[in-house]
Amino acid sequence: MAFVKKIAADLNWDLNKNTAYGVYKGFQVTLSQNVSYTNSQNNFKLLSIPLEPVSAEAAGMLQNYVVANKKELRFIDFAVEKHMFSARLNEMFKQIKSEHVINILDLLIKEFQELGLTPKTTCVYCNEEESDTFTYINGIKFPAHDRCKQEAIRKHEETKKEIEGEPNGMKSYVAGIIGAVIGVIPYAIGVWFGWYIGLLTIITGFAAYKGFQMGGGHAVKSTKYILSAITLAVVILSNFGIIEFIAIQYGVSFADVLSFQELRDIFYEMLAMSALFGLIGVIAVFVKIKRDEFNTVIE
Ligand SMILES: [Zn+2]
Repeated sequence: MAFVKKIAADLNWDLNKNTAYGVYKGFQVTLSQNVSYTNSQNNFKLLSIPLEPVSAEAAGMLQNYVVANKKELRFIDFAVEKHMFSARLNEMFKQIKSEHVINILDLLIKEFQELGLTPKTTCVYCNEEESDTFTYINGIKFPAHDRCKQEAIRKHEETKKEIEGEPNGMKSYVAGIIGAVIGVIPYAIGVWFGWYIGLLTIITGFAAYKGFQMGGGHAVKSTKYILSAITLAVVILSNFGIIEFIAIQYGVSFADVLSFQELRDIFYEMLAMSALFGLIGVIAVFVKIKRDEFNTVIE
């Protein structure tokens, strides 16, 4: 999917990982690729163009223009902010190639010029003249003063440390455990009725994260590992709980239940299938938590 590389080469733009940087008709353009292996709707290119202050009136007219030219522009959605225009380019059905990028930029910049919108040349941090360098905020290239950039990086590091250092109380992890237990109930009920649907444990991880958040937790680096461990433990233990429950119902011991070859086979299958699907759910939620971490990057 890394066709940004091809576009950068075609247009003679700079490339950094999955992002291309170029100047087109005087406008600084950042074009990055978002790739999702789990959701095809999350495959898109993000186009960002910093602008000098956009008045509310110009923003309104620009919005009308984009909506009127929806088809050619191929935007999934777009945002007109005070200092930036950004849009997600739809490539669900058809790849965006260099010629499309040029076509989109031509259409867009023609309208910018008609509305009197100019490329941002002032510092992104203080909005004063005489920028002397560039800065990258979440990969988007902006003009800046070097002194403002250094100050922003310093402040950003402080904020990050504060958030990372703020511990999640016991309460949020207990809520995560409760979430996981609630999340495993559909599976347990299924088994109780004789449906060994391991697939149902796929939701346990999400339930654990939901519980964690409801308990006031915020995603830090360790969260994804702790909640993954909690989820897998709850999924595996639920199988023991179910067997124990059956044993109590029949007034026998746990070992008695497993002394039957047939029940033992079912138990092992339950363990394996629930752990497998539980793990798939955990991987999905792991990615989600990682995204929710404080991840603004200033360079
Ligand atoms: Zn500045």
